[in-house]
Amino acid sequence: EVKSITDLPGVGPATANKLIEAGYATLEAIAVATPQELSAAAGIPITTAQRIIKAAREALDIRFKTALEVKKERLQTHKITTGSRNLDDLLGGGIETKTITEFFGEFGSGKTQICHQVAVNVQLPIEKGGLSTPDKMAKAVYIDTEGTFRWERIEAMSKRWGLDPDEVMSNILYIRAINSDHQMAIVDELFNIVPKENIKLVIVDSVTGHFRAEYPGRENLAARQQKLNRHLHQLSRLAEIYDVAVIITNQVMAKPDVFYGDPTQAVGGHVLYHAPGVRVQLRKSRGNKRIARIVDAPHLPEGEAVFMITDYGIAD
Ligand code: ADP
Ligand code: MG
Repeated sequence: EVKSITDLPGVGPATANKLIEAGYATLEAIAVATPQELSAAAGIPITTAQRIIKAAREALDIRFKTALEVKKERLQTHKITTGSRNLDDLLGGGIETKTITEFFGEFGSGKTQICHQVAVNVQLPIEKGGLSTPDKMAKAVYIDTEGTFRWERIEAMSKRWGLDPDEVMSNILYIRAINSDHQMAIVDELFNIVPKENIKLVIVDSVTGHFRAEYPGRENLAARQQKLNRHLHQLSRLAEIYDVAVIITNQVMAKPDVFYGDPTQAVGGHVLYHAPGVRVQLRKSRGNKRIARIVDAPHLPEGEAVFMITDYGIAD
């Protein structure tokens, strides 16, 4: 019986090591890979890669599902509260696992504050809107590309729920991504870490910053978008395979017309064009009020929600 990648036909210790190093440590990761990608990553012939993928899929019993099974699976996805009832309602209950949720909006619209708050909230027990169970604390990964993570905010947001701030912080795995390649390598590495650590939330704040800086101008647009799409694809695989919620943020200009021609700046402004997921636009309102709006989500009703950014976090 095939239970781990070393049980796959044609995978000896050397190939197993190469696969693990390349981020294909589990049957799930291999089953959803393409032969080309596996062959390049592990330095094995395409035909061998095909054989390995086929065996991994058979071991996982990949087959058609009925719509009823799809329904049951979707009902099993879990939701994390944002701290605002209004925003939760807009999202159909909260931030969903197995999905990418993109928050996009101008500077100061609350993207980073929401990331901090959800990194805390995921640790709440299930009945309070988190994903911790009595025997297992849910953890979060925080990939910071802009250096805007503040432990002080985690502390304030933890105290709000009566959680021990140091314990909450010890369940947030933080990493600063220094460029887009590093950012992508981190996500590859998560395929090894997430299954071992009860990680239920992965945050990338922001997902686009490095890509914009490294691929400036219209002439680099195609290359940038291609690389970004690969990154988003990896994140959505991660969400799907390991039942984790993924939050990405994307800063867009208040006046997108100035950046005409740039799809990550255009009207609408979101980057999740082809990837499945939920896109939420944030706008500033008066004082600490913010307005959230869902953009082209087939399963969610249209509408807006007003929430607040307070000292103790995201609230109504
Ligand atoms: P973005 O990531 O979208 O650029 P942020 O999430 O950093 O924006 O939001 C910044 C806003 O959050 C600030 O303009 C401020 O209104 C609010 N904010 C930040 N820290 C606090 C705090 N300690 N108390 C209250 N509001 C805060
Ligand atoms: Mg920010």
